[in-house]
Amino acid sequence: MPNNLLALNWKMNKTPTEARAWAQDLSEKLVPGDATLAVMAPAVTLSALAANLPAGVAFGGQDVSAHDSGAYTGEISAAMLKDVGASYVVVGHSERRDYHGESDALVAAKARQAQANGLIPIVCVGEKLDVREKGEHVPFTLAQLTGSLEGVSSDVVIAYEPVWAIGTGRTATADDAEELAAAIRGALEQRYGAAAAEVRVLYGGSVKPDNIASICAKPNVNGALVGGASLKVSDVLGMNDALK
Ligand code: PEP
Repeated sequence: MPNNLLALNWKMNKTPTEARAWAQDLSEKLVPGDATLAVMAPAVTLSALAANLPAGVAFGGQDVSAHDSGAYTGEISAAMLKDVGASYVVVGHSERRDYHGESDALVAAKARQAQANGLIPIVCVGEKLDVREKGEHVPFTLAQLTGSLEGVSSDVVIAYEPVWAIGTGRTATADDAEELAAAIRGALEQRYGAAAAEVRVLYGGSVKPDNIASICAKPNVNGALVGGASLKVSDVLGMNDALK
């Protein structure tokens, strides 16, 4: 089983100057624990992170183009992320699926592009509240997973993020997280065979220092994707400590 991945999603927060200060603060205070840390940050901050994060702390982008290069104004390519030193990239976050109309097919194309350039995609899936209230969260999320992994190899991280729990303070219970993580693991086994055991399945949705340990203690959960609680170094240290 892989160790826990604590993936921090800053979303559209922090300037390069703020990112540098955050990384320097983390460098002074971090006592490495058992989890792997990765900071998923705005593209313009990645050079500052490359220069200032403590050794062993990875970083990555929050989105990537499905194209190699060319006339795609505003987009960031996987080769650019790789060149700045990124290891990961988030694809298919619910905010991109909702506000930018990203389909499962596009998410899969982005994940393939990431892998082709040596990045590990963190593929996000998860249901909205109406789907959960109808009791359809498992089949819905598995269908999203299937579409989002078309042509994607097992060098991938899956983040189960129920949309109703993102940024709302409403956290799924550890049992809710495990229900989907186990279902996702089953689908990964069908797709990747024995290699599925090495694929990390994260939970995301209002994770904080006081709830991360119980969620990540579940057998099929291998870490967390954290938004709000990723912005303050003190919260990150708290979560890192909780995973020891
Ligand atoms: C996220 O942005 O992926 C997320 C889970 O956010 P939050 O932790 O704020 O709910």
